[in-house]
Amino acid sequence: MSDMTVQEMQAARVLDGVAVAAEIKAEAGLEVAALKAQGIQPGLAVVLVGDLAASGIYVRSKRKTCAELGIYSELLTPDESVTTEEMLALIAGLNARDEIDGILIQLPLPRHVDTRRLLEAVLPEKDVDGFHPVNAGRLQTGRPALAPCTPAGILEILRRSEIEVHGKYAVVVGRSNIVGKPAAVMLVNASATVTVCHRFTPDLARYTREADILVVAVGRPELITPEMVKPGAVLIDVGINRITDAAEVERLFPGDAARAEGFQKRGSTVVGDIAPEAFRLASAYTPVPGGVGALTIAMLMQNTVTAAKLRRGLVMG
Ligand code: NDP
Repeated sequence: MSDMTVQEMQAARVLDGVAVAAEIKAEAGLEVAALKAQGIQPGLAVVLVGDLAASGIYVRSKRKTCAELGIYSELLTPDESVTTEEMLALIAGLNARDEIDGILIQLPLPRHVDTRRLLEAVLPEKDVDGFHPVNAGRLQTGRPALAPCTPAGILEILRRSEIEVHGKYAVVVGRSNIVGKPAAVMLVNASATVTVCHRFTPDLARYTREADILVVAVGRPELITPEMVKPGAVLIDVGINRITDAAEVERLFPGDAARAEGFQKRGSTVVGDIAPEAFRLASAYTPVPGGVGALTIAMLMQNTVTAAKLRRGLVMG
């Protein structure tokens, strides 16, 4: 544990995901321009099944960013009733098309389709979400080509903020294949010592209190309270939780005029998994919104450019 008292600590540094995402997107845009000069335009196909409102918002935002960077994008919208076999045929078609470098299947899919089979049907070299077992295996063995966007964004914001990972003790709460597990692997690859916690970890605080870097990807507001944080730690909050109760917003963010105004406008606000009070103990933290979430799309763009290059042998796999 640190000897620092709260009084001795400097104000926590906010790790601005929006600013870092803008940097990454600008770099990806330059790479797209360089590829275009060679007659190559990276292309992303997005498959959105049914009409889940939240998924629609994510997809629009992904396509808008493609347009900004000069990446070709195509939206496929099979009906909610689509079968696994029909989806497999659709994916095979995209796998075969040369102008498509990345294939993104927006999750969640309807329960009647076999999500795992579909994700495994995407060609690994077009798997810009980094979910295919081949890409998971490459990550595991330290040969990352296309890595999952959210954890890749976490490592990227740490790197660009010059936060040392090498030799640090990192605790990851959450072990999903999309966030927690790959985040832990990436931190190990970056030479952190890593503990992964989940629903069945007894006495979670015992681990989180020791963490130099605490990554929380669960989906439960206030799972991490100030007592569970080591003063001076770096806090990475991946959780996205929508709060619709005005009293709850006032309790969590007393006197926060910007929050209150946003809530008034939209009728909800988004919070992470770490109690806002705990951020005050940190040396640095990612806010919600405006932290990790902002990076995910930027990393998707980066992966699409990387996929375009990989397929043409312009970078090493
Ligand atoms: P999952 O539901 O797939 O995984 C949640 C994980 O949290 C599981 O491993 C689960 O453990 C663990 N967990 C649940 N309750 C507890 C608990 N009480 N103590 C410790 N661990 C617990 O979610 P995702 O990984 O997909 O997403 C996690 C959060 O991150 C969500 O809020 C999601 O919205 C957000 N997210 C944000 C993204 C971004 O761009 N910022 C992108 C993706 C997700 P177990 O395995 O034992 O059940």
